[in-house]
Amino acid sequence: MNVRVDRDVCTGHGMCFVTAPEVFEDDEDGYGRARNNGVVDPGHEDEARSGAASCPERAVVFS
Ligand code: SF4
Repeated sequence: MNVRVDRDVCTGHGMCFVTAPEVFEDDEDGYGRARNNGVVDPGHEDEARSGAASCPERAVVFS
């Protein structure tokens, strides 16, 4: 599973990295971004989904 934050949609609410801190972090501008170059470890897939679901902007994209 790979994940990324669509920076054109993200408004920096921070819900993703609060909800799923092992998968997302905030960047230097306070926007969300995926850790580990977007590669989700198998043990963190549910957390990644929870983080995506928490985003009010639906800015988290899986591939
Ligand atoms: S919750 Fe959504 S809008 Fe907020 S920082 Fe994360 S990706 Fe961006």
